[in-house]
Amino acid sequence: MDSAVLFDAGKKGRGLRATKELNTGDVIFAEPSFSAVVFDRHRSGSIVSEPYKSEELQNVGSPNGSNTAGMHQEDLPNVSQELSKTTEREELQDLISGHTNWFISIHIPLSSLAARVLWRMHKDTGIVSDSQLVSVDQLEDHVADMSQEELKKLQTDVHNFLEYWSYGRKQHSVDYISHIFGIIKCNGFTLSDQRGLQAVGVGLFPNLCLANHDCWPNCTVILNNGNQSALSSALHSQRRIELRALRKIAEGEELTVSYVDSLNLSADRQKKLKEHFYFECTCEHCSKHINDDLMAAAADSEGAKPSADTVKQVTAFSEECLQKIEKSRIEGNYHEVLKLCHECLEKQENVLADTHLCKLRVLSVVSEVLSYMKVFSEAADYARRMVEGYTKLYHPNNAQLGMAIMRAGVTHWHAGQIEAGHGLICKAYGILLVTHGPNHAITKDLETMRTQTEMELKMFKQDESVYMTMRDAALKKQ
Ligand SMILES: [Zn+2]
Repeated sequence: MDSAVLFDAGKKGRGLRATKELNTGDVIFAEPSFSAVVFDRHRSGSIVSEPYKSEELQNVGSPNGSNTAGMHQEDLPNVSQELSKTTEREELQDLISGHTNWFISIHIPLSSLAARVLWRMHKDTGIVSDSQLVSVDQLEDHVADMSQEELKKLQTDVHNFLEYWSYGRKQHSVDYISHIFGIIKCNGFTLSDQRGLQAVGVGLFPNLCLANHDCWPNCTVILNNGNQSALSSALHSQRRIELRALRKIAEGEELTVSYVDSLNLSADRQKKLKEHFYFECTCEHCSKHINDDLMAAAADSEGAKPSADTVKQVTAFSEECLQKIEKSRIEGNYHEVLKLCHECLEKQENVLADTHLCKLRVLSVVSEVLSYMKVFSEAADYARRMVEGYTKLYHPNNAQLGMAIMRAGVTHWHAGQIEAGHGLICKAYGILLVTHGPNHAITKDLETMRTQTEMELKMFKQDESVYMTMRDAALKKQ
């Protein structure tokens, strides 16, 4: 912890600031979880008691059977066909749901994590290493800020917990357990899989909790299990987060991360932050409503702007349609998803701009589903439009942007658009070097893909017809 120090951030309470100048991509600190639990995805919200299941670890980087896509399969013995199928579908759903919130505050198995936190505190007290800045029980709990409804729910949770916890162990007061539950609720950090696409658990990282929120942060958090194999890292290694600098940071500058997806209007972000983290966001992007205009923009086709009323109508239609899309997606009815997406895009045409959030959400779903159904050319067109929109809205080093560009690159590659594919893969690689670092499993996947597409592009430029013949032969073999 020699790059960051605790300081009084005024109205925001405690915060972290840089003790020296930091460069883009620097790891400010790495931290193992104080406690963590892993979800069982097949019974959502409950905990796997047996070791991590291998189907969690399927590769999702490449949606079809290219060389690269298969490379992690070898690490995965005993995955039955049935399981693979289920996983594939679930992965797709996770991919489509897209915009990840790094911090979660609902649906977490509070009592399991609370039990582990308490156990850890008995064993080691609230401080586990010299570099830990505050004891776990000194973290914010926001119990005082909770609504009547939330307090009622908390009371029930605490009551249930105490009943289960009391056997042969030290008794705790209701207030103390409420405090621990509040801490987990406000500070629990979602653990995602090696590919960073699915929430697989939740952990408590005491130093990370001290970083305040900004909707346009200068840092990003990534779970990094280093270069161990996916299987062993999930089974055995400690889950470790890294706080990484998204840009150059001056000495003394506050270090911030985003608790919510920046792809929301400022009012919606503020509402979410208020509801889940109990504060009013007054960051620059919120107070100046930066990008709100783009995220709700009307199309500008040949100078003829649609009327405000039309935009309002189509936005309302899109929101309704997105709910239906979500429902069909959960049911696994992808033909219906495609039908709805096309219908929605048709309505949006010439009315909503490509940076409008409703349009981006549809583009994201339609490109993923088409890619999953191996309709790569059409998927690539939509993915490109999505990436163009994202690029105007996201910070250039945003991790979600990097992941979206990576998926668009792979889709172009599979569509035989090797030049565009390679370009996107290189671009994604550049972002992930900052957000994930060179040793992260996804960055390594990307590096392999970059080498492969570079070679293919060379072949393509030498002799297009030879390249196409080889490509066709390779695709037939699969
Ligand atoms: Zn904000």
